[in-house]
Parts: sequence; structure tokens; C-alpha cells
Amino acid sequence: MVRAFIGLGANLGEAAATVEWAMQQLAGLTATTRVAQSSLYRSVPVDAPGPDYINAVMAIDTDLTAHELLQSLQHIEQVAGRERPCRNAPRTLDLDLLLYGDACLNTPALQVPHPRMWQRAFVLLPLAEIAPDRISAAQLQVVQVQSAVRLSHPGAPEHGVNQVAEVKK
Ligand code: ADP
Ligand code: MG
Repeated sequence: MVRAFIGLGANLGEAAATVEWAMQQLAGLTATTRVAQSSLYRSVPVDAPGPDYINAVMAIDTDLTAHELLQSLQHIEQVAGRERPCRNAPRTLDLDLLLYGDACLNTPALQVPHPRMWQRAFVLLPLAEIAPDRISAAQLQVVQVQSAVRLSHPGAPEHGVNQVAEVKK
């Protein structure tokens, strides 16, 4: 079993519902168990127009290889109606393999750790919420000027935008 971390994002349609649905799909993958899932966060698109994103990070333990897992992520994206008209286009669902154990992979189809994760508050804040040991204070410092607002947390009485609370920096 390998501990993997998946970054989820959506900014078209019912984004929060899509992210929640995708986390259920991930938990249901073959040879995979759910370990933890972060709160939902809201972030402004980076280098792109369009509505705000809903983001989250999920940890799973899996016997799938990293490439098998990537294929599963892409299949879930397609079921959610993902299209790729251009780079950074708005999307119904984006699933990125952030970390796969301690593996460093650099193939044309798959780079792990995800090469842009260290520049993105909408990845690092939810990741730090569920796996603080994987992120240093210095790494969080790099993204502290970016906005990523926590919308809900596990165990909150209600999930949704009424639960907005600024994440502690
Ligand atoms: P992005 O998430 O960077 O906005 P896409 O979701 O459109 O872009 O992904 C583009 C390509 O990135 C995919 O076809 C996939 O093969 C590749 N890729 C490389 N490394 C990863 C990774 N760690 N997780 C997800 N996709 C990856
Ligand atoms: Mg992606």
C-alpha cells in the first residue's frame, strides 16, 4: 500500500458537489481506501478567467501503481464531463496526483510530486490540513499571499458557503 495525495479542483457547474462526488469515487477505487479528506476551499483562478474554484485534497492508501492511479483520475474527470479546450481552461473537474508515497517520477505523462503544487495555496493549505508533516512552514510561507478560503471542515454542522472562515496563515 502506498499513501497518495490527490488535489481536486472544479470551477464549472455544481463545483462543490462535483468535488464531493469525486472524493467518493476516489474512495471507491479498486484496492484503495480513504485515509483523510480536507475541507473544501475556494480560490481565484490562477492565470485564467472564469468562476472561483472549489478545491480540496484527499489522502488514500492504494495498491494501484502511480500510472494506474493517473488513469483512474482521468477516467473520473471524463465521467464528470471534463473537456480540455486550452491550457488552464475552466473545468468541471481537475484531479492531480500530488504525492505518491515518496516517489519522484518524471515521465511525459506523469510528474510526481506534481511540479506546480509548491506554488499553489489551494493545494498546500488543504494538504497541510490533513498531512501537516508533509509541508514545512517555509513552504507555506511561499503561498501565504494567495487567497484560499476554507469553506467547511469535517464535522462542521453544515457544509457550504455559509461556513466561510479565513484560514489561519
Ligand atoms: P493541469 O492540471 O496542470 O491544469 P491538466 O489537468 O489538463 O492540466 O493535465 C495535463 C496533463 O498533465 C495530463 O494529461 C497528465 O498526463 C499530465 N500530468 C503530469 N503529471 C501529472 C500529475 N502529477 N497529476 C495529474 N496529471 C499529470
Ligand atoms: Mg490536472
